[in-house]
Amino acid sequence: MSDSQSGLRSNASRDRALLPRIALAAALSGIALWLWRSYADSPAEQSAPAIVAASIPASAPAAAVAPTPTVPLVQPQQASLAATVEVIVGRNDTLDRIFRRMALDTADLARIRDLPGIRQSLDLLKPGDAIQVTHEDGEIRTLTRKVSETQTLKVVREQTGFAAQMINNPVDLQTRTATARIDSSLFESAASAGMSEQLALELANIFAWDIDFVLDIRDGDTFTVVYHQVFQDGRYLHDGDILAAEFVNDGKTYRALRYLAAGGQADYYTPDGLPLRKAFLRTPVEFTRISSRFNPRRHHPILNLIRGHMGTDYAAPVGTPVRAASDGRVSFKGRKGGYGNALMLAHTRGVSTLYGHLSRYARNLRLGDQVHQGQVIAYVGMTGLATGPHLHYEYLMNGVHKDPEKVQLPAAEPLKAESLQSFHAQSAPLLARLALPVNLAASAH
Ligand SMILES: [Zn+2]
Repeated sequence: MSDSQSGLRSNASRDRALLPRIALAAALSGIALWLWRSYADSPAEQSAPAIVAASIPASAPAAAVAPTPTVPLVQPQQASLAATVEVIVGRNDTLDRIFRRMALDTADLARIRDLPGIRQSLDLLKPGDAIQVTHEDGEIRTLTRKVSETQTLKVVREQTGFAAQMINNPVDLQTRTATARIDSSLFESAASAGMSEQLALELANIFAWDIDFVLDIRDGDTFTVVYHQVFQDGRYLHDGDILAAEFVNDGKTYRALRYLAAGGQADYYTPDGLPLRKAFLRTPVEFTRISSRFNPRRHHPILNLIRGHMGTDYAAPVGTPVRAASDGRVSFKGRKGGYGNALMLAHTRGVSTLYGHLSRYARNLRLGDQVHQGQVIAYVGMTGLATGPHLHYEYLMNGVHKDPEKVQLPAAEPLKAESLQSFHAQSAPLLARLALPVNLAASAH
């Protein structure tokens, strides 16, 4: 799973645009992926738990997780004794546990750990990480592990003791254009065009502000995506960022161009430099249903009297993440009467948002903190006057309540003069690629 994880890491900004339905689709596809991987992995797990032979065919799914090219060659004089094994880190695994399980010399581990500057890259293990060890009766000869996509830690036993080095293995980005026509689902069409599921999801995220990918998609819709593919040592690792995309939905054409601002923040804009993203999420939570709508003259179910419902209730299981609807500052955090645990954010343009009945707040979130759109700020609960777990969400403009479902959401900040110039310079070649004829565009580069 490390490839998709690093994909997520390198695309943190995408998270901000995550909309409930897309998140649901992500969860579903994640489950499908997990099922598939469990199935694919199971034979190895049954025969030898957590240990796989070092030679994994490049075509096997596990190859994406386990880097094989760095497995050291066995010295001729050790050929009869030395063994190379690859360990896949399991849940709650530590190096100590792994060493004990495999009857490797823990004194060697202690010596390796004492090497300067490598402790963290050695000890920070994630389930699925691969570690290659060459040993002779448990005595360590070499230990190799990929620390990041581009760095591999290699420890070698020398005459005088262990020595460590970090090997840099840069990735190579290639630009590919894929195009497809939808005749079943977005995911199937994307797959037929050679795109990963992750990439299809990202495409949906980019246009999620304009297109409802559950309700609006029609057979015959088409899309073209210009994106990076990440290669290493000539081997495909995973898809990278989408640089440009076009989506024709029900005859209407939408275009998105990625722009990397000077501050390193990436966002998507129309060819005119207008942001695709809105300044506010329509719904700050992935909900199962709307359990109560905005109604200033509602009869209150618990208080049994007329008391306006000044927001929207989104039913969702306790613990569902609640996201900041927009960039802003925490202006209230604590108990607030019938709202139970509540949080308020102050945004620009006189807008504030309120989140009620929370079970808990995001860790380390304090009054006055700056938050970003899409950032998890709290979790759904049923504190205060609530008949079931849901998020009570209010949207106020200059102190006046608006219907969160209907209020016209302001667009995100457009690009300013000098940024606009560099945006046009960056995006011109991408636009040209989008305009390529379909049969040409479909081929890989
Ligand atoms: Zn409510």
